[in-house]
Amino acid sequence: MVETLKIFALATDPIYIGTGGYTIGRVDNTIVRDPITNIPKIPGSSLAGTWRYYVVLEALTLKDLKDKQTSTDENKSQNGSTSDEKLENCNGKNNPTNDWKAFLGNQVLRVNCAGQDDAPFVERNDKNNTGHCGCCIVCKGFGFSKKDISWQGMIFFSDLKILLFPVFTFKGTKWITTASILQEIGINESSPRENKIKTKNGNERYLNLGWLYLEVESNHNISNSPVSNFSLKPEDIVIVPESLFSHIVNSNLEVRTSVSIDPITGSAKEGALFTTEAIPRGTIFYGNIRIFDKNNFINSNNKMNNKIGSLPSCEQLKDALKDSARYYESLGIGGMTTRGFGRLKIELINGNSQSGGSQNGQSNQ
Ligand SMILES: [Zn+2]
Repeated sequence: MVETLKIFALATDPIYIGTGGYTIGRVDNTIVRDPITNIPKIPGSSLAGTWRYYVVLEALTLKDLKDKQTSTDENKSQNGSTSDEKLENCNGKNNPTNDWKAFLGNQVLRVNCAGQDDAPFVERNDKNNTGHCGCCIVCKGFGFSKKDISWQGMIFFSDLKILLFPVFTFKGTKWITTASILQEIGINESSPRENKIKTKNGNERYLNLGWLYLEVESNHNISNSPVSNFSLKPEDIVIVPESLFSHIVNSNLEVRTSVSIDPITGSAKEGALFTTEAIPRGTIFYGNIRIFDKNNFINSNNKMNNKIGSLPSCEQLKDALKDSARYYESLGIGGMTTRGFGRLKIELINGNSQSGGSQNGQSNQ
């Protein structure tokens, strides 16, 4: 009933997801962190918001093409003033294909199905509904809320946490991680002792991680890269103790200093220097997406069934996410994406499906 997609993401730009608040400290614009570990992360809400938009973009690109291909007669038959009328008059009503783009409700999908709903207090089928349509695969997959019906959605995003973090060493760039992080992706390695590290060779004696100079305790046994698509070798991975990880990450973030420009003089405004921190390029994140297939549940409850209408399948939702993931490589996530921040390369892997509850020792975080 719940299917999982594992997600790995490589930052091809620095990533800036701001807290929006203001803090007293080294930087002015701080990034989102896990409150317990103090390690920066990409919140699931950022992922959900951008992905919703990218599925809309992908669907609209294809819809435009399809509209151009269909004859004018067919276009006419899609007419109607409300979404129900449009769907009722649609020719492809009994489309048997499992293609997510062919999901019936997509006939009324529009760009406003992404972003914040600008008409949450009208009914879904109202002529004046200019916001979320409430019918398409995006609205049903990601959720919507109207005057007459609220729908939680079927796709649940976890936060993206740091799996491997790049640090400069005199042996080139190495990616640090910990035994407990590796365990979360199914790799069993023991943690090095306090203030010691493990490398693939294990015979370097000492290695610097940024400005920290640490003794190499022994070798680790990672033989295959946990992220096959990102051309990272086991030799590049260094395991550090839990106690050091947050410390090393936080002291190796990218910090940029900028100034505001005075529009009259075109030069730097006095006293307008500000600093921004970001997760550096090369960082690899992990997380998961759970898809809750409510189709069985809906069919056993006819009253609800009539109200929400047909639902996309798990496969259709997975395909929609996979097909639109490439937008992260060009449009990115978070703030300052027009200034060289935010691009990610995403890898999605089919995980387990489960009937509910937690199995196979997955983390509850
Ligand atoms: Zn919609």
